[in-house]
Amino acid sequence: MTIRAGLVGLGKIARDQHLPAILKIDGIELVAIASRNAQGEGVHNYPDLGAMLAGEAGLDAVILCQPPQVRYHAARQALLAGKHVFLEKPPGATVSEVEALVALARRQGVTLYASWHSRHAAAVAAAKAWIAERKVARIDIQWREDVRHWHPGQPWIWEAGGFGVFDPGINALSILTEIVQEPITLLSAELEVPANKQAPIGAMLQMATASGAAIDAVFDWRQTGPQTWDIAVETDQGSLRLSDGGNMLYLDGAVQVKAPDAEYPAMYRRFVDLVADKAIDADTAPLRLVADAFLCGRHCPTAAFED
Ligand code: NAP
Repeated sequence: MTIRAGLVGLGKIARDQHLPAILKIDGIELVAIASRNAQGEGVHNYPDLGAMLAGEAGLDAVILCQPPQVRYHAARQALLAGKHVFLEKPPGATVSEVEALVALARRQGVTLYASWHSRHAAAVAAAKAWIAERKVARIDIQWREDVRHWHPGQPWIWEAGGFGVFDPGINALSILTEIVQEPITLLSAELEVPANKQAPIGAMLQMATASGAAIDAVFDWRQTGPQTWDIAVETDQGSLRLSDGGNMLYLDGAVQVKAPDAEYPAMYRRFVDLVADKAIDADTAPLRLVADAFLCGRHCPTAAFED
């Protein structure tokens, strides 16, 4: 069976990644798009999800690519209509939203896929296997990028529920919680919030594994020039570094994996498999760490920032 999918929110990530990935993957085809201000080619177009659900009786699945603040009601609407749902990351603006969606998907007997694209980066599985054989001593995460380059014209990202620098930072946390197979807790955090924004531009997190290894993370949106998406892991038997958002792997300084980004096709293969089993994949571990940082982090006001 080929999944007939409708996508909501034809914006940056939908155009950059979802549309080309769907074209590459067997088992799913895009038949409709619901977007208030944009139209796709070769598909039926609707102004919103309600109109798409009403107009597309044969739709199997809905892919939600809007900002997190508005995704919950759309996900509920799609699940209540009996559709399988693919959520962009982060899966909700709150943990309770995601838990409610999981319960609803279970009741409806449909798939809910809370996607974490960075977990599908080329070197993540190899890093996880390498770490599984060792005792982690400490982890250092540096996730530094230029918000003006990556998020131009996205006011939602600076608003409450938009996550600020945790929008990219949660990608690092999604890799961290995938490659380290023991509980991770947040110990403390500092959040730098510009005077004219509601969400942080910088964050420092101190975390620990259940067995006591220290994990430090720095997320910063003010980095110009080369961008940094690195996770360094020291163990009792050598060191590992994931670079380029998880697409490069170094072991004891030597490159082991260097691959182009193919995260979204991998996610669609996963979605096709999940739908075949009407299964749910909705891990909230990365979102919980972000929520914990907002819960107990110290707020450090910083200068106004014009993006
Ligand atoms: P975006 O381009 O700013 O927004 C996507 C689309 O959502 C917009 O084109 C808009 O379409 C719709 N939208 C925006 N604000 C809305 C609102 N208040 N109510 C309803 N619809 C609204 O954002 P994006 O960069 O694609 O990111 C969307 C999601 O994907 C985010 O959760 C982000 O974390 C995730 N993501 C983004 C990237 C990236 O590189 N940008 C990478 C990975 C994941 P209409 O106005 O036409 O309805």
